[in-house]
Amino acid sequence: MSTAERQAKIRIVLVNTSHPGNIGGAARAMKNMGLAELYLVEPREYPAPRAVWRAAGARDVLANAKIVGSVDEAIKDCGLVIGTSARERRIPWPLINPRECGDKIWKEAKSHQVALLFGREDRGLTNSELQKCHYHVHIPSNPDYSSLNLATAVQVLSYEIRMASLTRKNGKLPEMNEWDQPLATADELELFHDHLASTMADLKFYDPDNPKQLLTRMRRLFNRTRMDKMEVSMLRGLLSAAQRKQGK
Ligand code: SAH
Repeated sequence: MSTAERQAKIRIVLVNTSHPGNIGGAARAMKNMGLAELYLVEPREYPAPRAVWRAAGARDVLANAKIVGSVDEAIKDCGLVIGTSARERRIPWPLINPRECGDKIWKEAKSHQVALLFGREDRGLTNSELQKCHYHVHIPSNPDYSSLNLATAVQVLSYEIRMASLTRKNGKLPEMNEWDQPLATADELELFHDHLASTMADLKFYDPDNPKQLLTRMRRLFNRTRMDKMEVSMLRGLLSAAQRKQGK
């Protein structure tokens, strides 16, 4: 599944927003982070020129926003629903941080629709709305002044979704199941370790009668790298060359 298809499964839901400027700001924050599915549950003043003005280059996100009459309608086809909260609530609920939220959303958007709910500027989400959610997410802000501007909160959480989408690709090797060479099998690794041990003995690098932890540590070192067949044959070629030099 492409990144765009996955992004299309991620829905930002703004509940009962008072200020149209925040709707525009949220649309812009989303588009900057590659998201476009905006749902507005009973916005108090919308459409509004201030929303368009704040959306800047994200007018398309605003123009495609779906206006619905209830939270239930906004989330009805979603397999994961996460609610945002600016403060501790009376009823404890599974609580995650923004990074975990980004990871979870990105992972699950591979298989189903996901919704992230944002509350009213003056009083957030109601308890009954929060209880429709599988998880709550709190941006760990200053406890003495914990409430972010609505569009800013959308920005922070959309950014974490973007980071989750990028860390899977950047700076990391592909998973072993998408490696370019077949992995070495256990018997090939055994032969490699035998070869390594005999070469080290030939080189008098270690005393076979008193090996201490050397062989164990060598096993642990090479097991951490998950060598493929080609890497094992390269190293065995190197060991053979060292043995030849010894006249073996
Ligand atoms: N007085 C309200 C504040 C709402 S702020 C309250 O206490 O709930 C408006 C919306 O911005 C919130 O409903 C939430 O969606 C988001 N938001 C603001 N600060 C947040 C924070 N620290 N963590 C998560 N969401 C936050």
